Amino acid sequence: MAWKGMGGMPTRSSEGQRVRGSCGNGERGGAGLLGGGGRRPQQTVATPSGRVAPRRPPTTIRRKISSHKYTSIHVSTIFCAPSPLSGICNGDPHRSRRRRSPCAVPRCNLSDDGRRRNSTPAPAHDIASCLVTSGVKNFSLPASKSFKPTLDSSLRYLRFDVPSVGKPTAIVLPASQRELQCAVLCARSSSLAIRVRSGGHSYEGLSYTSENHVPFVVIDLASLNRVRVDPASATVWAESGATLGQLYHAVGQSSRTLAFPGGTCSTIGLGGFVSGGGFGLLSRKFGLAVDNVLDATLIDASGRALTRATMDADVFWAIRGGGGGSWGVVYSWKLRLVPVPGTITMFDIDRRGPADLIAGLIHKWQHVGPHLPDEFYISTRIYFKPKPTNGGNLTMSFTGQVLGPKHLVLSVLSKTYPELRLAESELSEVSWVESAAKFAGLYSVADLTSRQIGVGEYAKRKSDYVQAPISAPDTAKVARYLTTAPTEGSIQLNPYGAAMARVGSSETPFPHRAGFLYSVQYAIDWRASENGRSGGYMGWLRSFYEFMAPFVSKNPRGAYVNYVDLDLGTNNWTTATGGPLSATSVSHAASWGQRYFLHNFDRLVRAKSKIDPGNVFNNAQSIPPLH
Ligand SMILES: Cc1cc2nc3c(=O)[nH]c(=O)nc-3n(C[C@H](O)[C@H](O)[C@H](O)COP(=O)(O)OP(=O)(O)OC[C@H]3O[C@@H](n4cnc5c(N)ncnc54)[C@H](O)[C@@H]3O)c2cc1C
Repeated sequence: MAWKGMGGMPTRSSEGQRVRGSCGNGERGGAGLLGGGGRRPQQTVATPSGRVAPRRPPTTIRRKISSHKYTSIHVSTIFCAPSPLSGICNGDPHRSRRRRSPCAVPRCNLSDDGRRRNSTPAPAHDIASCLVTSGVKNFSLPASKSFKPTLDSSLRYLRFDVPSVGKPTAIVLPASQRELQCAVLCARSSSLAIRVRSGGHSYEGLSYTSENHVPFVVIDLASLNRVRVDPASATVWAESGATLGQLYHAVGQSSRTLAFPGGTCSTIGLGGFVSGGGFGLLSRKFGLAVDNVLDATLIDASGRALTRATMDADVFWAIRGGGGGSWGVVYSWKLRLVPVPGTITMFDIDRRGPADLIAGLIHKWQHVGPHLPDEFYISTRIYFKPKPTNGGNLTMSFTGQVLGPKHLVLSVLSKTYPELRLAESELSEVSWVESAAKFAGLYSVADLTSRQIGVGEYAKRKSDYVQAPISAPDTAKVARYLTTAPTEGSIQLNPYGAAMARVGSSETPFPHRAGFLYSVQYAIDWRASENGRSGGYMGWLRSFYEFMAPFVSKNPRGAYVNYVDLDLGTNNWTTATGGPLSATSVSHAASWGQRYFLHNFDRLVRAKSKIDPGNVFNNAQSIPPLH
């Protein structure tokens, strides 16, 4: 076996080029996103005419409904109060009216209960007119030059960047909570389905696509990325459009000994990440992101801004791990920061060898990774690249973060995992925020603030959970199956246990707690030039997933909602609010919902029925309300 330490970062892409911001291939950096180029446009903002229309008073207004006709429409008013992120109104209509600032939103198509009166097709000028009238300046329509760059700016998976995938009628980039509230109401009054995008990292493109070509608007939160850290109380208020990197950077600036337990990839949006649970390198010590949510501001289907104090307890429970896109738009989160040593130890190393030898390392890892002290995190990614020189060899990458000094790491791992042959030269002592930048494949801590996602990926992902270690002979079979990958195929194993397992499985919608040893993420990646073979590649991944069935959790076979996988089933909505809901909508959704949420699925349906009975917020795998 060729032992090959590759501790140096930033990492290299498959072409051997130096990469920056390389959080490809799921959790771990280093999988070949060419950085620097960045597809984010310099100027993403446009009005339909290029002009900014004056805001009208919040009374009855005249709305342009065609190039030459106007009609009178009813206008609703949202009253705003200051939120903890200053300058941003809270918009709770139940609050004192003394500090209100009105937000005029046409409700032409909404009846009193907030449901749509009709479902006439919504041309772009309908929503454009509504947005302009409401003072929302930042949006882009398909005819605009900025439209494609704006859509692509955080479109992570290029599988969905093809003509056959429907494009939005408009992309709105609200710049304040009030604009976000207006965007929701304008989308509804224009009979458009709503897709909310924070970082655009959905594995199935759920934040910028719709089912059955239903017309939709993307509400992109990229401009809502303010982060306010309060080191004294070890808390932070962050807008959902902030990336993990922006959050980490702000926390790191405020203190060397505070951190947030988030994921590895710096360009993931906080909105989607927290909504789905949020696993990361500190989860074994401090739990998931949702275990550290203290409060949130949710914009509901009526445009109200609800906080923990004003929303139903089931709803506050649901937004903490019940998946994005079902409840409303989470505008901001109040998060608990966690204490870390000023210096921690990290490593990112590769071991390479024939399948049977790698199988031995995998087998042993199962008995080590999930059982180490809380301060230890060691995940592994095993991948195969079918190159003539590879000779059937697999590479096993280890990502390690330990809240302690080098000598602690060496003393513990030399006893528990001597097969790893970890050398002191492979370890680095750094601050937590430095480790965050390095794991994200960045050159510096300052790069954490970049939203540039580099070149997107052609890829498919699936997930599983393992509750009992896979036997040595079966691990060898798994490793050998990997070597049949037709292109770069991999599995990522993330250790659970410790603090994650001490949270009850019903305390949040994320149920994979005590008794779950580790998660498995299956991945296949390909280049644009191989698109003609993508069906075969994804077919191989699905066959691998079937092969793994005997070794993973059962009844139901679990999956992680942040690794969203439409192979598990879809709602098949046909209108902006889903189409007629039937008694079978919920039982159909249970077929994948119970795989993500196990016994928590029923409470999620109850929460949905309370907060969004009209199913305004939906996507291919959203939670349906009760009929
Ligand atoms: C390279 C990579 C690395 C990853 N690493 C990790 C990891 O370490 N740990 C982990 O747990 N997961 C990881 N993931 C999965 C990631 O957490 C999910 O894809 C997450 O949903 C992405 O959030 P986003 O805001 O970037 O995505 P988006 O595509 O913007 O949103 C995802 C979903 O959430 C909804 N949504 C977004 N914002 C909001 C909001 N403000 N309010 C309500 N709904 C919203 C969207 O409509 C969509 O349905 C990784 C994914 C990628 C691509």
